[in-house]
Amino acid sequence: MKFGIDAGGTLVKMVKEENNQRFYSKYLSTEIEEVAEMLKQFPEAEVALTGGKATYLQSLIPQEAFQSIEFDATFKGIQTFLKQYQHPLENYIFTNVGTGTSIHHVERDKQERAGGTGAGGGMIQGLGYLLTGETDFERLVTLAAQGDRDNIDLKVKHIYKGDKTPIPGELTAANFGRVLHTKDHVTYSDADKLAAAVGVVGETVTTVSIHAAREFNAEYVVYIGSSFLGNDLLKEVVMRYTVLRGFRPYFIENGEYSGALGTLKLM
Ligand code: ADP
Repeated sequence: MKFGIDAGGTLVKMVKEENNQRFYSKYLSTEIEEVAEMLKQFPEAEVALTGGKATYLQSLIPQEAFQSIEFDATFKGIQTFLKQYQHPLENYIFTNVGTGTSIHHVERDKQERAGGTGAGGGMIQGLGYLLTGETDFERLVTLAAQGDRDNIDLKVKHIYKGDKTPIPGELTAANFGRVLHTKDHVTYSDADKLAAAVGVVGETVTTVSIHAAREFNAEYVVYIGSSFLGNDLLKEVVMRYTVLRGFRPYFIENGEYSGALGTLKLM
C-alpha cells in the first residue's frame, strides 16, 4: 500500500494506491493530526509527502517518508494525469489555484516557476467572510454561483456608454468599481458580493496566467487546485476569460491531487 500526501495551507490531499487502484481523499489542514492517526494504522505502508506541512506531518508518523519539492511533485502529478487522460501537451502553462496561486511554465520534461499571485482560494474564503460572514466553503461557492456582479463590477461598456470601445465592452474595467455608481439605487445581496469576490480572483489568476502563456508562446493553460472544487463560477470565469484572451484552458479532473499523486510517483 502506498500513500502520496500533499499537506497544504488549507487542505491535505491524499492519494492511496493499492492493488493497482487509486483512492482520493482530502482533509482540512487543521485536522492533520487525524491524518497522522490514520497513517499509524498502516506502519508497513510506503508514504510520500510534499507541501508546506510535510515536515510537520513527518514528525507525527512512524513511517520514514519520502519527501519531494512541491513544484516537482505537482508537475509529476500533472504529467501523470495528462498521460492518463490522453491529453499530451509539450509547451504549456500550469496554474495551481490553491490557498494562493502559483504559475509554472512547462517545456517537455522541465518546469520552471513563472510567477504567482496572492489572489486564490484563500482570498475567496477571506474576502468572502469579510463581505458576508460566511465561513463554510461549500455554502460560499453555492451562494456565489447564484449572484450577479453586474452592479458591482465596472465593465468597459459602462465607461463608454454605448460609444465604440477600443477593447471588448464585456471586459471588466474595475473589479468592484461600479459600487459607488450604483449604491443609491440597488442593494447588494450576499450572493452578488460573493460572485464579485470569485470574479476578481478568477480574473486576476487568468490575467497572470495568460501573460505567462504569451511570454512562453504556449497555447494551453492547465488549471488545477482545490479552489475549483464545486466552484463552477470560478471555473466559468477562468474558462471564459482565458478563451477571450486567445488561449486554451484545460481543467484536469482530480487535478487538485496532482501534488499528492506526483510525490507518490517520484518515490
Ligand atoms: P493548499 O495546498 O494551499 O491547501 P488547495 O489546492 O488545497 O491548496 O486549495 C485550497 C483552497 O481550496 C481553499 O482556499 C478554498 O478556496 C478551496 N476549498 C475547496 N474545498 C474546501 C473545503 N472543503 N474547505 C476549505 N477550503 C476548500
